[in-house]
Amino acid sequence: MFLDGLRHRLLVQCPLERADSVAPIVARYQSGLVLTGPKPFKTVRHLRRLDHRGPILCDAGRYTGRHRVPASAGLSADWTAEQHELGLVALTDSGYLAAGDWPGLHRLLDDAADQPQPLVVTLPLAPGWFAERAQLTRLITTLNEARLPVAIVGDTFVASGLIRVLTASVPVLVLRSDIGALGAVCHGAHAGALGVMSGLFVPALMGHHRPSVLARIVDRTPALAHNWPCRCPECTGAVPIHLTPGGIYRHSLHTQLALADQLRHDPAAWRERCGAALHVHRKVGEVMPNWPAADALRWWHELEPPEIPRQTAGEHAPRLG
Ligand SMILES: [Zn+2]
Repeated sequence: MFLDGLRHRLLVQCPLERADSVAPIVARYQSGLVLTGPKPFKTVRHLRRLDHRGPILCDAGRYTGRHRVPASAGLSADWTAEQHELGLVALTDSGYLAAGDWPGLHRLLDDAADQPQPLVVTLPLAPGWFAERAQLTRLITTLNEARLPVAIVGDTFVASGLIRVLTASVPVLVLRSDIGALGAVCHGAHAGALGVMSGLFVPALMGHHRPSVLARIVDRTPALAHNWPCRCPECTGAVPIHLTPGGIYRHSLHTQLALADQLRHDPAAWRERCGAALHVHRKVGEVMPNWPAADALRWWHELEPPEIPRQTAGEHAPRLG
């Protein structure tokens, strides 16, 4: 597997215990898996035995949780080697990058430069990296000079900062995100991964909500009735308010991956879709008290067509060796 096999894909990130239920869903949409956990290799072999052929990445997740390590801990060569033995593009087992931790960033990039390719440097960037323009500019310059594909992690990006990182000349993946991962793929990210595990994805609202909240909306907005029935394999035309927890999760994957298929990484189609969802949010806000403003959707919808060089395989090929 080469990095090019991930291009424009919206992947699904999940813990190992969910892999069996997620694999058939991602296979249906030519999507792929990002398996998260310190010991994913048995699961990868298991999926291959089941003839799962789609792309798989392994995220060690060392940057999160109670035992998270800092970026200054560097990278493990064994972790990368194990992924290569399985025929995977290796995702480095980077630790957490606190805002402004330049020595940590250089440690990760230096260690990665010493490892064999194909390899993607995981960058678990603290939100602070995106907050200050000068720091972000220096970050992008540093990544361009390192000439290594990177994967930024998280769903709390300042969207404008995310868009700027996507202007880097190296491939940028966006992991562990929400539907914004699809926005990123539409705006030049090499690939994105959905990481939200809870809530019901409501396509008309382009976000996750509790089923009970959707049920209340359905009751109060008869004029919007055509927005709620879902034709995914879980719902088969029903309004998704009576699904089991497993059904909610599968519905959410089906609907987001189907949306990715539909938009075909077209930035104008994405922004139009955000605009349509904003309109529904406004209508819902008229009847639901304290309905929160959909700031992220508004931001995407109003985004000027950005000057992002749409990455081409040709541009990346030399760096991938
Ligand atoms: Zn559904």
